[in-house]
Amino acid sequence: MRIAIGGLAQESQSFSPVPGGWEHFGPHDVLRGTEIVAEAAGTRSEPAGALDVARAEGVEIVPTFYARANASAGPLRQEVYDALLAELLERLRAAGPVDGVLLFLHGALVTERLDDGTGEVLRAVRAQVGPDVPLAGTLDLHANCTQLMADQATILAGYHTAPHVDLYETGQRAMSLLIRAARGEVRPVLALRRLPMLLPGETARTTDGPLSEVLAEALAPQPGLLDVSVFSVQPWLDVPEVGCSVLVVADANGPKGGRALAESTAQRLAERFWSRRHEFEVDLSPTEATLREALASDRGPWVLADSADAPSSGAPGDSTAVLAALLRLAPEHDCLLKQVCLLKQVCLLNIVDPPAVARLIAAGVGQEVTLPLGGGFAPTFYAPVEVTGYVKLIADGDFVQKGPGFRGAICHRGRTVVLRVGQIHVVVMERPCRQWDPELYRSVGLEPTDARIVVVKSPAAFRAAYEPLAAEVRILDAPGPCSPLLRALPFRRVRRPLFPLDRI
Ligand SMILES: [Zn+2]
Repeated sequence: MRIAIGGLAQESQSFSPVPGGWEHFGPHDVLRGTEIVAEAAGTRSEPAGALDVARAEGVEIVPTFYARANASAGPLRQEVYDALLAELLERLRAAGPVDGVLLFLHGALVTERLDDGTGEVLRAVRAQVGPDVPLAGTLDLHANCTQLMADQATILAGYHTAPHVDLYETGQRAMSLLIRAARGEVRPVLALRRLPMLLPGETARTTDGPLSEVLAEALAPQPGLLDVSVFSVQPWLDVPEVGCSVLVVADANGPKGGRALAESTAQRLAERFWSRRHEFEVDLSPTEATLREALASDRGPWVLADSADAPSSGAPGDSTAVLAALLRLAPEHDCLLKQVCLLKQVCLLNIVDPPAVARLIAAGVGQEVTLPLGGGFAPTFYAPVEVTGYVKLIADGDFVQKGPGFRGAICHRGRTVVLRVGQIHVVVMERPCRQWDPELYRSVGLEPTDARIVVVKSPAAFRAAYEPLAAEVRILDAPGPCSPLLRALPFRRVRRPLFPLDRI
């Protein structure tokens, strides 16, 4: 048996001021042929899980083409999407006849012209391989799972965790089901229920709260069911067909009749999910008051999530909201701007600002520089802040994630400088990257457990690696394109009514 693997994934954000482009795909994010297998080795990624299952089952894997953006951004430029999809199709064609295809997807890909870029990938691959070849896809829990996707795919498997720590297992689920379908052992049928609701990532967690309970019910074993996914959707997609959903895969050869079982299970779970929609309100902490509280505390670190500027949600990562607030507090915390190292007052921040990186590198290590920082990409949300700081360290910026989620994945943030503004250590980087892992700081010599305040730009995924070391975790009430206050965002194209924009 031969199974082709490949994929195309980018998480789009309609309110991001930066369109998705080639710059969001790092050197290890566009993989061809055996590079996919080599890159998966030693990681906990979807391809790693899928490959391990294939090896155990004695299935020959034909790796084709896999592009996965390193950071979310605005809708992907059409020519980038077209080029990526064309290469995927070309390499799938070159693979020759296969018994199945597995695609690693995300499910919230929007392009300049397409509201459902993922569905169109599945449609194009389906058209090429024909109606009889089983086609499976993995999806993020934040996928906007559409009817088009469900119609084109034989199997879809979404993550069951947020923070996402089951990428490997999702790859395993999709591959084992695909092999069983290709062998004719099961005949998957899909039922999708879409809900007119959006949820903030901060509270749509599977570790606790309402989503965890909906998911627990969904994952209770039931004869005839092959797989179930619950999607809490990426809420910043301004496309007509957007919303949470439930997807059930049942076996048409199963004891209870696949179609009816899939439909009734999806309906029951969707009703349960819908009934919990009012329970996802986010508890936001006012930025300045929280910083003051942290600075006065004798415990650390306070891990403060500036989720409105989360690159993993599609923000450009250039917010200066926390930096500006810290500088405002400096007069009442006189140690804050002292250059001597006062271990427990250290604050760790990060800001994307390519021109600032260039200036700091030109100045050189050990130099003092006065310059404006941040606010370059999303000026409607925050302004540059002028600082005088000391260039502590210059690095290439690459780091490997070591936490439980994307363990082994390389993050490329471009050239990176640590600028010390007294006790405020600002990691200034050329490109946005995921902020789920303390390695963002450790890789440039900054130790989060020694700090009083650590800022992470992430709504929920940071919790997997940071909660075990945090004295306190708060979500800040800060401005930005990924604010959890969805009613305040300029949605224009979504179909109404839509919760929480409307009362339903
Ligand atoms: Zn996600």
